[in-house]
Amino acid sequence: MALEEYKRKRDFKQTPEPPAKLERGERRRFVVQKHRATRLHYDFRLEMEGVLKSWAVPKGPSLDPADKRLAMQVEDHPVSYFDFEGIIPAGNYGAGSVMVWDAGTWEPQGDAAEMLHKGDLKFRLNGEKLKGDFALVHMKSRRPGSKGTEWLLIKHRDAYVQEGYNIDEYDYSVLTKRTMDEIAGDQGSAEWKSSRKASAGGASKKNNWLAESIAKADAKKAKAGKKSAASKASSATAKKPGKTARPTSASSGGVKKNS
Ligand code: MN
Repeated sequence: MALEEYKRKRDFKQTPEPPAKLERGERRRFVVQKHRATRLHYDFRLEMEGVLKSWAVPKGPSLDPADKRLAMQVEDHPVSYFDFEGIIPAGNYGAGSVMVWDAGTWEPQGDAAEMLHKGDLKFRLNGEKLKGDFALVHMKSRRPGSKGTEWLLIKHRDAYVQEGYNIDEYDYSVLTKRTMDEIAGDQGSAEWKSSRKASAGGASKKNNWLAESIAKADAKKAKAGKKSAASKASSATAKKPGKTARPTSASSGGVKKNS
């Protein structure tokens, strides 16, 4: 039941993504996938109850507690999605390139199922890039038409805090050390362009929900804090992500590529 939506959205003859399969046992791993689809976002996934509970985070996670990142809960993914990296071909749900941006283990700070149900999930991450205490907090949305899928991903204060964290400085796969462009390759870039054109034309926009939610969230934010948006924008342009901090020692043991 948990993976019905995942299954329904995909054609497994077309996509290299793994099939829907419930996992037994309770390992607690997490993965963050950088996903260049209709819009770039990061998919934050926690292994729990035999699936990967998943949230799409438009701006990606941050190690700065001042960043409260919008996180839209999406359909559960199969655990085997954990190391999926590659290209989802044009015309398919989520078409674009996928990078395993971070992975590791997580520890719930309490009863995981109960915290998820209550909409206040506190946990500790032990990944390569993300470490320390975080919370996912379900937002009570007052606006009409809301799907009730909006959460906030927040870093708690601890030894791993990095003020002014800039996620663009970490554009590499923890599996293969490749950048997003390297994963996408030339062919991927072409697919990316063509899928973009299709959605601009107003045809079947499979990623509509995400684009719309982001647009709404952006509008809301613009209204709420023009000042902070302006200062953020200026610091973003000032701090151009020049060189990417990329470890040179590629640990390629047991790496599984799906493209
Ligand atoms: Mn995604």
